[in-house]
Amino acid sequence: MPKSHTLRHCQPCTACCDGWVRMVIYGAEVYPGSPCPHSTGAGCKIYDDRPVDPCRNFECGWVKENSPLPDWLRPDRAHAMMLPGVRTWQGRPVDVIVPVGKRIPPRALKWFKQFAEQQLRPMIYLEQDEGGRDYAKDQNVVAYGPPEFQQEIGRLLAAGERLW
Ligand code: SF4
Ligand code: SF4
Repeated sequence: MPKSHTLRHCQPCTACCDGWVRMVIYGAEVYPGSPCPHSTGAGCKIYDDRPVDPCRNFECGWVKENSPLPDWLRPDRAHAMMLPGVRTWQGRPVDVIVPVGKRIPPRALKWFKQFAEQQLRPMIYLEQDEGGRDYAKDQNVVAYGPPEFQQEIGRLLAAGERLW
C-alpha cells in the first residue's frame, strides 16, 4: 500500500492501511475502527515484509497510473477511496467507493456518480449508519447504475455472496 509512484505519491495518505478497506493481514482482521496493526499512522512498520496480497498488489483508483481521478480526490483528503474494477457486470468494470470515515462527503460522491454515468461504469459504494460514534464492521452497500445492476447486487447480497 503506501508507495511511491511515477506520477503520484501516496504520502502522506495511509487510508488503505487504516481500516477503511476490510482485509486480513497475517491473521489480523482489519475493518472500520480497527486499522492494520502494522500501520504507524504514517507508514508501514513491516514495509519490506508486507504481504503480496493485498498490500503489494493494491493500488487505489487515485494512485493508479493514468488515474482519471483529480488531485483533490486523494483518499485522505477527499475521505473516499476508489477500488477500481473489482468485478464486471455485463462486460463493464464495476468500481467500489469506500468512505474514509462514516460517509463519502457529498462533493466526492457527486464526482464518483458523474464518473460512473459518463464512463458507463456501474458503481457500488459503502456507508455507515449516521447514528452513534462507533464504526460498524459491516457497512451499508449501495448499488449505483442501471436497475438491472442494482437488482443483481441485491440478489448477490441476499445470497450472502462476496461482492469483491
Ligand atoms: S489509499 Fe491510495 S493513495 Fe492512499 S495510501 Fe492507499 S494506495 Fe496510496
Ligand atoms: S501490512 Fe503495512 S502496507 Fe499492509 S495494510 Fe498493514 S500497514 Fe498497510
